[in-house]
Parts: sequence; C-alpha cells; structure tokens
Amino acid sequence: MIQRAVEESVSGFLSMGLSPAMIRALQKARYIHPSPIQAEMIPEALDGNDVIGQAKTGTGKTAAFGIPLIEMLEARAKGPQAIIMAPTRELVQQIVVELQKLSEGQNAAICGIYGGEPIERQLRALQRGVDIVVGTPGRVLDHIERRTLYLGDVFHVVLDEADRMLDIGFRPDIERILRKVPNPHQTFLLSATMSTEIRKLAQRYMYQPVELNLSKDEPSVDSIQQYYITVENERKIDLLLHLLQRDRPRQCIVFTRTKRGADRLADRLRGKVAGVATIHGDLAQNVRNRVMSGFRDGTIPVLVATDVVGRGIDVSGISHVINFDIPDDAENYLHRIGRTGRMGKDGLAYMFVCPDQGEPLTAIENLINKPIPTLKLEGFEAARREVRRIPAFRELFSNIKR
Ligand code: AMP
Repeated sequence: MIQRAVEESVSGFLSMGLSPAMIRALQKARYIHPSPIQAEMIPEALDGNDVIGQAKTGTGKTAAFGIPLIEMLEARAKGPQAIIMAPTRELVQQIVVELQKLSEGQNAAICGIYGGEPIERQLRALQRGVDIVVGTPGRVLDHIERRTLYLGDVFHVVLDEADRMLDIGFRPDIERILRKVPNPHQTFLLSATMSTEIRKLAQRYMYQPVELNLSKDEPSVDSIQQYYITVENERKIDLLLHLLQRDRPRQCIVFTRTKRGADRLADRLRGKVAGVATIHGDLAQNVRNRVMSGFRDGTIPVLVATDVVGRGIDVSGISHVINFDIPDDAENYLHRIGRTGRMGKDGLAYMFVCPDQGEPLTAIENLINKPIPTLKLEGFEAARREVRRIPAFRELFSNIKR
C-alpha cells in the first residue's frame, strides 16, 4: 500500500532505476515528474556518458546532474569524488541546497567553496572529508594551490552555466583545475548557449559527449508576460512606485545597470515601500547571504539587483521582474526575466525604456524573435516622446500578428 503511494507520487522517475533512498528524497521534495532536461540527462549520465546539456536555469538542470551524481557516489573515498564549478557564490549555494535535498537520508558530504567569506569554515569542512565539492573556479584553484583540496579521487566533473563562467573570464582557472582531475572521469557541461568557445572547451576536455539541447522550448520564458513602458529617465522612480502599488507583487527583482544605481534606488524606495534590499558584488558575503535568505523566506519582497548577482537567483515565488534600467546586452534580458516564470509558474516582466533607447529594445526583440507589447499607464502618458524604433524592426515584424 505504502509502496504504491510512493510509486504514484514519483511515477515519472521510477523507470530510471533510481535507488530507494533517492526515490524517498524525490518524494519528500515533491518532484513528481522529471523536467525535460532531467528525463533526457539522468539516463545518459547513469550510463556513464559525458553529457553536454543546453538548458537554462529554472528548467531543473541542477537535479538533472545532481541526481545521477549522488546515485553514483561510492562509499567514502579519501578525497572528493565530484567537483562542480559554477560562476557565482549564489549559484554555488543554490546547488549545495539542492544537492542536500536530493541526498537527504544518505551519508553524502557536500561542501560549497567560494570567495568572500573567511576560508576557515571551508578548510574545516574539507579536512573532515567531503564527497562533492561545489565551488567558484577562483576559490577552488585557491584551495588546490594551498593543498587543502585534493582532486586525485575525483571521477565526476560538472561545469554549470559554462557560458557565464567563460564570460566572467574563468577559462584559465577552469582549464588549470581540469588538468588536475585524473583520467578517466565523467564530465557534464551545462550551458544556456553554445558558443564556439564552449565547443572548444568540450572538445578538449570531454570524451564523446552526448549533446542534449533543451533550450529550444524555453519553457520558463514562454510563460512570462512581457511589457515595455516608455518613460522619461527622471520619472522612472515614480513609475516603479506606481507599479509596485498597483500590482502588489508577491516577490519582485528590480534590475539596475550599476551597483551604485542599485544602492541609490534602494535608498529612495526605503520609507515608501516595505521590505526593500539591495544585492550586488560589492556587498560583504554575510550581507549577501542575509539578503538572499530574507528574499527566499519572503521577508524581503523587493530586491534591487545588478546583473552579475541577480541573474543567477533561483527563488520560485518571484512574480515580477522589473528592468528599471534596460539591460546592456540583449542576452542579459533573457537571464533577468528568467528569474520569474520558474518551473512553469506565471511571471510578469516590465522594462522601462527611455525614448532614446529604441536600439537596445529592438536588439532584445530580435533576440526573443517577437515584439514586446507596450503598456500605457494612466498618469504616465506624460512621456513626451514615444520610443524611436529602428525602421528595420517594423519591416522585420510587419507580418507578425501582435
Ligand atoms: P534549476 O533549473 O536547477 O535552477 O531548478 C529550478 C527549480 O525547480 C528549483 O527550485 C528546483 O528545486 C525545482 N525542481 C527541479 N526539478 C524539479 C521537478 N522534477 N519537479 C518539481 N520541481 C523541480
């Protein structure tokens, strides 16, 4: 009877031949059906293949590599058996939390290592012995050089958000780390986009990888309603206050272009909006942790963030993303709005566009391959001019129905 209930509650995962402990953990996490990347990646990974998964955050990619990793752990080896590299501290922390959830009830030691916090905690954890190390490439290398991290027992390597790691300039660190991993080993590479640089990395360090492209459907972005609002620069704060009051978002990330811009905006919102906080790379790690846990538990409903830190945030209840400043590059727009609409939930994304920002707006519309509708708000039609579009844009979309 109990067995049947378990089977029904995780039915989609049962055909994968996972261990009873994993099935129990999935049931506890209420993961009933595997997401598309999980359905494709887990069997390939368990078969021992190297896998390249093209998938964005919010598609369940962490469990797609986390489930097979945990399933393949051997009884405690001397050093870590798996090393996962990710571009930011926040992402490292999210991966650790997800792996802990998936290994619940099993004796797996998982350790997150990243800069910005005193190294002692990480040293103690590494000394006690760990099975899976999750870290940013810089700090991982730091530990290798101090001889506090030994990769001689590693059999599994994961490069998560590989495109972002290369963007940030982690390529030399990653390569130095990969050269320390003994052969043979199994590698999983996850990336939202597939550039020639990523392909080169894969060619060099992976063995006959199976390629899975799941970003074609982009489920998380499709479930997001997107609007842009024309606004003069000096009225953006009024517009933001108006939207926050009108929509009363459950949780909202407001993106600014610069760290100082984020601080300034948060200062101006305080006193007018309850529960505002800022997150960006200049804040001390303990402050960032505090802000993230407040955002996660809902005590901070409005988070003002810059791209580098904000775009990796995975909190499932985010109802709104507000692009207070238009993103510098179109690709960032996708990363930003992907914070909402996670795992099939609905989300809303607004973008504030000044009248002279037609060009970046067009670049974004070209990237997502559809026009973004404009939203007119009473009291804000004061904007003197409409966004000046690039003529080519109209031609491009003239035959697409709005
Ligand atoms: P990720 O793409 O790994 O950042 O995952 C996005 C969110 O989906 C995380 O909050 C996960 O805990 C959650 N998640 C992952 N797999 C599943 C699943 N099979 N069913 C329900 N939720 C899931």
